[in-house]
Amino acid sequence: MRGKDDIIVQKFGGTSVANFERMRRAAEHVKRAYSKGLGVAVVVSAMAGETDKLINLGRSAVKSTYDDEMDVLVSTGEQVSCAIFSMILREMGIKSKSYLGHQIRIITDSNYTNARIIKIETEKLLSDIQQKIVPVIAGFQGVTPDGRITTLGRGGSDTTAVAIAAALKAKVCEIYTDVPGVFTTDPNLVSSARKINFISYEEMVELASLGAKVLQIRSVEIAARFNLPIHVRSTFSDETGTIVASDINKISETPI
Ligand code: ASP
Ligand code: MG
Repeated sequence: MRGKDDIIVQKFGGTSVANFERMRRAAEHVKRAYSKGLGVAVVVSAMAGETDKLINLGRSAVKSTYDDEMDVLVSTGEQVSCAIFSMILREMGIKSKSYLGHQIRIITDSNYTNARIIKIETEKLLSDIQQKIVPVIAGFQGVTPDGRITTLGRGGSDTTAVAIAAALKAKVCEIYTDVPGVFTTDPNLVSSARKINFISYEEMVELASLGAKVLQIRSVEIAARFNLPIHVRSTFSDETGTIVASDINKISETPI
């Protein structure tokens, strides 16, 4: 069995998997870590815009709202992206296998459209990693103890990634996005925005509550609970991004 220090989780957001070219760019980050001999688990969001489309589709179908069926519908966005991402990895010569939440068994409560993760079974993931297979996990989704599909709320793939990283005792959870890290304000809106190199969990939760959309708040809370460093960085460069961790000691130890 690999030691915990050998595993990292890489999560790619919607804009990072928006088309095949971007997925290939994202897959280069997987290849870089994999080639260093690290065990890599990948978590993907739906391709950009797909979740909104699915929500609109469900809402336009009937007058009432059926949250449990909405989750079955909306979770398909990630089913598409994890299958394609896995195909792309295979084409690059990396062994990989896609997983939906219920296949791993990411168990959640039954709070449909905003469920919380209760437990993650790690057996299949650890066995893949040990065999140098990269599991490509559909973010944002889980399953209730009695087998119903759930989703984790908007931006929930971050929470999937951090929870998987905590369960696998990974050394870091890398969150790949379309900006080079966490900024003092949104760099897409304000050109004077400054990148933050290090930020504590508490400050990150605060930033997220103020509306910074870079990480789902729940993902930061889980990272804090397990003292797991998060590295928010751009898919489109190899630069170091923002490290979210507990303190300076932890930060200086954080592998980047
Ligand atoms: N696809 C979901 C959303 O758009 C989850 C995520 O991207 O994190 O909210
Ligand atoms: Mg997001």
